[in-house]
Amino acid sequence: MNEMKNRNVLISGASIAGPALAFWLKRYGFTPTVVEKAPALREGGQAIDVLGTATEVVRRMGLLDRVHEMSTGKRGTSYVDANGKVRASISSEAFNGVGANGDTEIQRGDLARVLYEATRDDVEYIFGDSIAELVQDENGVRVRFEHAAPRTFDLVIGADGAHSHTRTLAFGPESRFARHMGYYISIYTVPNFLGLDHWEQDYNTPGTIAGAYSARENTEAKAIFAWASDPIDYDYRDGAQQRKIVAEAFSGQSWQVPQLLAHLDDAPDFYFDAMTQIRMDSWHTGRVALVGDAGYCASPLSGQGADLSLVGAYILAGELAAAAGDHTAGFANYDRQLRPMVEACQKFAEGTGAWYAPASKAMIRFRDLNVRLLPYLPWRGLIGGAPQKVARTVEAKDYAA
Ligand SMILES: Cc1cc2nc3c(=O)[nH]c(=O)nc-3n(C[C@H](O)[C@H](O)[C@H](O)COP(=O)(O)OP(=O)(O)OC[C@H]3O[C@@H](n4cnc5c(N)ncnc54)[C@H](O)[C@@H]3O)c2cc1C
Repeated sequence: MNEMKNRNVLISGASIAGPALAFWLKRYGFTPTVVEKAPALREGGQAIDVLGTATEVVRRMGLLDRVHEMSTGKRGTSYVDANGKVRASISSEAFNGVGANGDTEIQRGDLARVLYEATRDDVEYIFGDSIAELVQDENGVRVRFEHAAPRTFDLVIGADGAHSHTRTLAFGPESRFARHMGYYISIYTVPNFLGLDHWEQDYNTPGTIAGAYSARENTEAKAIFAWASDPIDYDYRDGAQQRKIVAEAFSGQSWQVPQLLAHLDDAPDFYFDAMTQIRMDSWHTGRVALVGDAGYCASPLSGQGADLSLVGAYILAGELAAAAGDHTAGFANYDRQLRPMVEACQKFAEGTGAWYAPASKAMIRFRDLNVRLLPYLPWRGLIGGAPQKVARTVEAKDYAA
C-alpha cells in the first residue's frame, strides 16, 4: 500500500458517528482528534436498535458482546386507552424475534459510552469546545476553535448531528438541506412509577403519542412524546422554551400524561427535536466531509439513525484508508457506497408516522386492530423484518486493517 496521506483528522461531535469514525480511522493508522461541544459525553435519548450491517460493524469493532450486555431487554409494547386499559400489545416474539425490540436494542447514551470507552485511550478528545471557523486550501484545513488555540488538520469531518455546525460552515445554512417530516419528539428519564417490566406503554390521541418504557433493568423509565405539527419556530439551544412546547402540546391529556409531564422540569437528559431529514447531493467539499445525522439524518421515524452512523463511519474510514488517505477518491467512494442505504432509510421513514401517531380515532383503532392480528399473520416475519432489510441495504466490505 502507498504511504498514507492526510493522517491528521479532526472530527466534530462525540455521539455515535464521531467516536465510531475515530475508532476506524485509528485502526487504519490515522490520528483522529474529536472535539465535542458539550462539557462531557451526553447522556439521554431513545433506545435504539443496532440492526443489519451495523451489527456486523459493531462485531468487527469487537464491541458486540458489550452492546448485548447493555441491551435494554425490552420485550414489547402495549397501546392503552385514556383509562390505561390495554387495547393491543406487540411483543418481539410476534416478529419471530426479528426486528423491533431485538437483543441489540440499547440506550443511545449507552452506545455513545461504549464507543467512547473503546477509543478514549488512543484518541484525543476535546470536550467543551467547538469549531468557530474553517479555512481550507490544498494543503490542509486551518481550524479556529471557540476556546482552544488554532490548529491545522489535513481533513475535517462533521459528526455533529442534524444541526451540524460543520455543515453550516462548509456547505451553507441548514434550511438548504433540512426537510421537516411533520412531527416533533421529546424523550427524558422519569421514575418507573408505572412499574413497567422491560415493557413500553403508549397512549395515542389523534396525531399524538405519549408513552413510557422501562430502562436500566426497570430501575427507571423513559417518557416519550411525539406529535404531528407544522414547523415550530423555536431556539434549539433554549431547553426551557422546548419544555414549554412539549407541555403545551400535551396539556389536558388523560392516561398518565400529566404524571409524565410533571417530571419535565427536573429531567437531567431532556431531549427535544423536530423530526427532520437532511438531504444533500454530496457529503464532501474539498477536505471537509460529513458523517451520520450531519450529512444524512433519516429522522427518528426511520429508526436507523445509529445504523447509518455506524455504517457510514465504517465506510468513510475504510474508503479513506483504501485510497491511502487521498480524500478526493476516499470521499467520493464513501458517497457511492453508502448512498443506497441512506436513500432506503429516508424512504422507509416516510411511512412510519401514520402508524406511530395515527391522525384520527378511526386510524388509531385500525392500527390497534392490526397490532392484535399481527401474531396470526403468516407474513408477520416480513413486517418485523422490514427494518432489518433496510439496515442491510449495503454490506460491510472488508477493508485492510
Ligand atoms: C443527547 C441526544 C439525545 C438524542 N435522542 C434521540 C432520540 O431520543 N431519538 C432519536 O431518534 N435520536 C436521538 N438522538 C439522535 C441520534 O443519536 C442520532 O440520530 C444518531 O444516533 C446519529 O448520531 P450522530 O452521532 O450522527 O449525531 P448525534 O447523536 O446528534 O450527535 C451529534 C454530537 O455532536 C455534538 N455537537 C453538536 N454541535 C457541535 C459543535 N458545534 N461542535 C462539537 N460538537 C457538536 C452534539 O453534542 C452530539 O454529541 C439524540 C442525540 C443526542 C446527542
